[in-house]
Amino acid sequence: MEFRDLKRQYQAHRQAIDDAMQEVIRGTHFIGGPQVGQLEERLAAFAGVKHCIACGNGTDALQLALMAWKIGEGDAVFVPDFTFFSSGEVVPLVGAVPVFVDVDPLTYNIDCNSLEKAVEFVAQRTAYQPKAIVAVDLFGQPAEYDRIRAIADRYDMLVLEDAAQSFGGLWKEKRTCSLGDISTTSFFPSKPLGCYGDGGAVFTDNDVWAERLRSLHVHGKGGDKYDNIRIGMNSRLDTLQAAVLLAKMDFLEEELTACARVADRYTARLKDAVQTPHILEDRYSAWAQYVVCLKDNEERNRTIACMKEAGIPSAVYYKKPMHLQTAFSGKQIEAVSCAVTEGICKKCLALPFHPYMEDAEIDAVCESVKKAVG
Ligand SMILES: *Cc1c(COP(=O)(O)O)cnc(C)c1O
Repeated sequence: MEFRDLKRQYQAHRQAIDDAMQEVIRGTHFIGGPQVGQLEERLAAFAGVKHCIACGNGTDALQLALMAWKIGEGDAVFVPDFTFFSSGEVVPLVGAVPVFVDVDPLTYNIDCNSLEKAVEFVAQRTAYQPKAIVAVDLFGQPAEYDRIRAIADRYDMLVLEDAAQSFGGLWKEKRTCSLGDISTTSFFPSKPLGCYGDGGAVFTDNDVWAERLRSLHVHGKGGDKYDNIRIGMNSRLDTLQAAVLLAKMDFLEEELTACARVADRYTARLKDAVQTPHILEDRYSAWAQYVVCLKDNEERNRTIACMKEAGIPSAVYYKKPMHLQTAFSGKQIEAVSCAVTEGICKKCLALPFHPYMEDAEIDAVCESVKKAVG
């Protein structure tokens, strides 16, 4: 069994993907071909946002957003403690300082009480200026945007939605990638909308930021790329990736529906044995991962071993809280305790998950998990 079976996806849609790639190869317009602009328009329309700027990957997308806001030295940026490294990595990259905030034990998204405390701490007890909140839609479920927005407004901060794992998800009828002042996503192959290499995109309704983002992602270009008006990056989405993504957009909704079906089947079979994902009433997950929590670290080890014996892969997202990563040592403001994250990191386990899973495979995973937990 594969953890995320990309081969089945390709087999199911082979003709469309091959045709799209062939067209790029025949046209030889490998950078900045017409498919890139078409994709940007299609993604913007799908998300319900005015501007989409495709770029090299989801990490660059986050960095570009912080650069467009001119966040840097003396600024504090709030990031959930339980997320992929990128969400925090970009903060010191632009010269600002990260403040890691604890997460909710059920949704795994940022805990707004912890966020509020952290912001107050920074505002009252440090010389740093609270500037932005990186709201991560972890494992596909949109974060708490009502409360995040209220806290951001109170302290005059910006909201950066890291939707790397949630493309296609919904929050109160609104698509992810439309929930931040700027939102970003990743097209890494295993994400909900993945390409055949690295890729990412930045979304915003703001015309000024959009123009700055367009410049920043091509060497800080002015009128053209040989007129450079600011220091930027080389972070373009190449045409082959855009073509693959355009082809995949045709069946994204179908895949999202299939993911919801797989998740429901898992939850129905596992909810009495382990802590299953908790999706709130008014939102729809894009199901980047299906993550359960075991009782403790020992039970998790037992489950991993039992699954492995049955030929079933699993993965731990994430083993280490952000505030304990060596890279951030001495480079962060420690404002709040992140005890919930520390607990989850010891107990969480991601199960094989993708829209092409068959019922018998889901059932085999569930049997193996249940056998391990007794
Ligand atoms: C994957 C991911 C990223 C980074 O995306 P890349 O395209 O790999 O650079 C950022 N944030 C989160 C939450 C992610 O899961």
